[in-house]
Amino acid sequence: MEQHIKAILVALGEDPEREGLKNTPLRVSKSLRYLTSGSHESLDNIINGAIFRSEIKEMILVKDIELYSLCEHHLLPFIGVCHIAYIPNGKIIGLSKISRIINFYARRLQIQENLTRQIADTLMEILEAKGVAIIIEAQHLCMMMRGVEKQKASMKTSVMLGLFQDDQRTRSEFLSLAV
Ligand SMILES: [Zn+2]
Repeated sequence: MEQHIKAILVALGEDPEREGLKNTPLRVSKSLRYLTSGSHESLDNIINGAIFRSEIKEMILVKDIELYSLCEHHLLPFIGVCHIAYIPNGKIIGLSKISRIINFYARRLQIQENLTRQIADTLMEILEAKGVAIIIEAQHLCMMMRGVEKQKASMKTSVMLGLFQDDQRTRSEFLSLAV
């Protein structure tokens, strides 16, 4: 990968041997591997049994979880927050695991719509919950730094499953708490 990054520097008209760029190919390749490391992890390892029995029947909501991902169209970051809620059906999951599931799907070449869907489907499946709701609000550097240069624009995506889809009151409760 370093050779290719060096070639990109040359194509940009740079001298890859100058002091500031000397170690850039190595740094960029390490950084890209880290930012896409989710694709090489295993979901089972991440969850690692951290699902617990519980009689809780009320909505569990986690707000403003930071999110960093890479847009697959431009290889530029999109950055934002994620709000997640679920209604347990006998199982709950630790808070840190929710963050790790988000990172698992965010640390790869992504689009926000798929990211939202993948996190929702995964939580629904592993928790066998009565419902899962997710909102992601993110700013895309590919929009902010280039192209239309809309610095303030952010994109909102949501996925509602189970009770959040079927029951208007549950959905409204989530929206009033989350947004
Ligand atoms: Zn993009």
